[in-house]
Amino acid sequence: MTKSKTAKTRRAAAKPRAADPSEARAGRTAERIMQTVLQERDQETVVQRLDQWVPIECPHCGEGTEIHVIADMDGQSVDQDCSVCCRPFIAQIDIEDDEANVSVEAA
Ligand SMILES: [Zn+2]
Repeated sequence: MTKSKTAKTRRAAAKPRAADPSEARAGRTAERIMQTVLQERDQETVVQRLDQWVPIECPHCGEGTEIHVIADMDGQSVDQDCSVCCRPFIAQIDIEDDEANVSVEAA
């Protein structure tokens, strides 16, 4: 009798204590996961918006070629070697309003 009474009391006392914080935590975690997923989706959409081949010309010999530009290359300089004259040049990438502008410079 004494044993079962003690067990009952313990169970009754433990139940609400264990359930309440874990439920609240689970809810918050789910919210956080949802927010993270939504944010990641937004970022992917931005990155995928700009993905194009931009025609450029070798500053040494004038040979036309193309450079692959994606959104996160904004402001970057890319070292290139001309496929015709083999001389190096630098492609400076600027992205404005989802449009890639690439200027070339002899290296
Ligand atoms: Zn060239």
